[in-house]
Amino acid sequence: MTPPTPVDAPRAGLGVRGLVVHYRDDDGTVALAVDGVSLEVAPGEVLALLGPSGSGKSTLLRAIAGLERPSAGTITWDGRDLAGVPVHRRGFGLMFQDGQLFAHRSVARNVSFGLEMAHVPRAEQRARVAELLAVVGLEGFGDRDVASLSGGERQRVALARALAPEPALLLLDEPLSALDRALRERLAAEVRTALKATGTTAVFVTHDHDEAFAVADRIAVLDQARLLQVDGPVELWRRPASRRVAEFLGFEAFVPVAQFEWLVGAPGTAVVGRGGAARDSEVRAGGVEVRADDEALADGATRADGDGAGTARRDEARADGGLGGAVLAIGPGALEIADDGPLGGRVVASGFRRGVTETTVDVDGVGEVTVVDHAADPVLREPGSRVHLAAATA
Ligand code: ADP
Repeated sequence: MTPPTPVDAPRAGLGVRGLVVHYRDDDGTVALAVDGVSLEVAPGEVLALLGPSGSGKSTLLRAIAGLERPSAGTITWDGRDLAGVPVHRRGFGLMFQDGQLFAHRSVARNVSFGLEMAHVPRAEQRARVAELLAVVGLEGFGDRDVASLSGGERQRVALARALAPEPALLLLDEPLSALDRALRERLAAEVRTALKATGTTAVFVTHDHDEAFAVADRIAVLDQARLLQVDGPVELWRRPASRRVAEFLGFEAFVPVAQFEWLVGAPGTAVVGRGGAARDSEVRAGGVEVRADDEALADGATRADGDGAGTARRDEARADGGLGGAVLAIGPGALEIADDGPLGGRVVASGFRRGVTETTVDVDGVGEVTVVDHAADPVLREPGSRVHLAAATA
């Protein structure tokens, strides 16, 4: 008998509703690892689960895979409740930080593993392996011994192997975190390309916001077992739902909009706590209180893409219950050093990074922010010296 389907399950793709996962230790203590999370992943969509270590990302992923049993809530695929469906019958693929390649098999025979298990005809296997090695940028690597591969190449093979059986959903748990930073950034973009080229629906766990932004169509931010916000990369950056989300994305200082109205709309700033998640009913189900939003905001979002972004967002801030309570998040690069700038501050430290200078300034009434100087001939600032600052011009 088909189990009953919850009425609010999405018809296609992944549906997670009110999911709760506990861990019970031997001494009887109970840890709440996932607390009332609801989200959806549409067919062909790549969703990143982003959050600090211990926020519950892996547990959520493992519950979707069927490796953890939820204490409450439902997980559906194409509207069908997966409770009681064992891991190997879900049709999902898994990829981990260590790709766990078979050392005694060649690259091609690693990639073909799932196809062999499914008794796919040999010729078809060969064609599929060649196709996938091309997708992950390893054309001609088929006969190589896996021991001869670099870390990045190994993870590419692991990705090709995970994609080969055409999983309904691919679950990736920090697949790049063992690699060095420069390689990680490049591979994140390549993983996205491979997922899109194969039309794969995927959930990608990471603690690195750059990686999440490089890989995902939408990003779900988790903290302390709870879902804080689900949004596309641009909306998330422009409209973090809370200060916690903004801090996690790298915003450095938080000031009342009422006092810094002139800075609203400057590059590297965001008005916190409005929009974004508010349009997302699923976040409400995740236990976060958000405001129902209005047409003015949707309209504002459109206008903010064009000219007069600052004006549009100031209008929004006013429309959204006045400027009194609104908070402006200031990120690296939002302010620049300008002799006639309206803000003053004291230089804390200054250094070169990737051809520009980054200066940490303790700005009066704001706090410490990173000022980026893109001048052709940038100068280091003396710690302790006073500077004036203005909104950066993009
Ligand atoms: P993340 O993937 O975001 O780092 P996890 O899902 O691994 O987070 O962990 C979430 C919480 O659950 C953490 O507090 C962690 O200590 C706890 N936890 C994870 N796995 C277990 C386990 N097997 N037994 C007990 N507690 C666990």
